[in-house]
Amino acid sequence: MSVRRPSRRKRELSDWFRERLKQLHPDAHCELTYRNAYELLCATILSAQCTDVRVNLVTPELFRKYATALTLARARAPDVELIVRPTGFFRNKTRSLIGMAQAVVADHGGDVPATMEALQRLPGVGRKTANVILGNAFGINEGVTVDTHVGRVSRRLGLTREADPVKVELDLMELVPRDEWAFFSHLLIFHGRRICVARRPRCEECPLSERCPSSLVRLAK
Ligand code: SF4
Repeated sequence: MSVRRPSRRKRELSDWFRERLKQLHPDAHCELTYRNAYELLCATILSAQCTDVRVNLVTPELFRKYATALTLARARAPDVELIVRPTGFFRNKTRSLIGMAQAVVADHGGDVPATMEALQRLPGVGRKTANVILGNAFGINEGVTVDTHVGRVSRRLGLTREADPVKVELDLMELVPRDEWAFFSHLLIFHGRRICVARRPRCEECPLSERCPSSLVRLAK
């Protein structure tokens, strides 16, 4: 994807927000539990429409039974369904997990590939999931992961007006230094889970409030 040129005012505001977010959430990180790219890929597939906490409850059993892509590729769907059922949409997720594992074995010798293109060719893997794997398992900043929190907080901060995650991502890539793309996504997710929550943001305790265009504190003045 091509990165669009930043506007100076927006970049300055983005830098200011980013510094505040770093001070507030210095330990922001991926909250899925994993030990390698294969485990993170499984956990990320399971995290669709599900909390990380719930995913982390089922993955120990999944990884105990299916420690590698090779073992998961040979799994029986009903056995996997039984394990991942608590994460919801378990039939689709099982299909994606086994299909992903079979493709990893058939096309990549059992190792999760480390490119956007190859990851997106795996069943159940879109750009968002590929960004998670590249940014966290491989340390490659190929894009910004845009989930529901990243989209919502970015719009509230005025960093984007877009609703489409790919367009939000382009706007954020324009504003944030490339070597911080993965970390910036974690910052917004941490902030969106803890302070800038969906229903009623906690603007009164938010250190971004003085410059946030959506701040309920500022709007009340
Ligand atoms: S001031 Fe309010 S709306 Fe703006 S980022 Fe903080 S919590 Fe969200």
